[in-house]
Amino acid sequence: MEKLIFATGNEGKMKEIREILGRPGLTILSQREAGIVSDAEENGTTFEANALIKARAVAAQTDALVLADDSGLEIDYLNGEPGVYSARYMGEDTPYTIKNQKILDLLAGVPEDKRTARFVCVIAAVLPDGREFTTKGTIEGIIGYESRGEGGFGYDPIFFVPEFHCSTAELTMEQKNEVSHRGKALRAMKEVLKEVNA
Ligand code: IMP
Repeated sequence: MEKLIFATGNEGKMKEIREILGRPGLTILSQREAGIVSDAEENGTTFEANALIKARAVAAQTDALVLADDSGLEIDYLNGEPGVYSARYMGEDTPYTIKNQKILDLLAGVPEDKRTARFVCVIAAVLPDGREFTTKGTIEGIIGYESRGEGGFGYDPIFFVPEFHCSTAELTMEQKNEVSHRGKALRAMKEVLKEVNA
C-alpha cells in the first residue's frame, strides 16, 4: 500500500486533499495521523519556499511521499500584502473579523478597478527518492466593500469573485473547492504525480 503524508493538521484541508488525490491503493495521512511532529520555521519569502520548508521537514522523518501547502491573499493595492504573511498578519491570534475590517479600512474609498486581489496556493511534493516538485493555483477576485457570508475561513468574507457575484464565504464548500487556489494547485499536483509515477 502506497502512503502519502500531507504536512498539515488542518482537517478541512485534509478533506479536500482526500477528495482530490484519493485513489484505491493510496493511504493519505495527515502529519498528525502519521505521528510526525515538526516545528519547521516558515521563514521563506515566497509561497514556494514555505511549502518546501514544510514538506522537507516532514520528509526528513519518513520514507513516504510528503506534500505540503502554503497559501495566502495578495492584495494589489497593498503591494501584494498580506501575501506569505497572511496567517501572521496583525498577529496569528487576531480574529479575522478584525483583520478583515482593517483591510476594508485600508481600502476605504479605493475604486473597484484598484481592489484586485488573489488567493494563491502552492503545493510542494518531496518524493521518497528526494525529487521535489511544486504546483501553483490562484483565484482572482476583488476586495469587497463589506464582509459577507458565513462559510469558509480567514479572508473569505471580504474576497469577492465577480463570476459568482458573491464572496468566497458565500460559496458552498463544493463550489469553492472547484474554483479555489488550493483545488487548482492540488489537481495540478495530481497530474505531476501521475507523470512521475509517484
Ligand atoms: P497557511 O495555512 O499557512 O497556508 O496559511 C494561509 C493563510 O492564508 C490562512 O491562515 C488565511 O489567512 C489565508 N488563506 C489561505 N487560503 C484561504 C482561503 O481559501 N480563504 C481565506 N483565507 C485563506
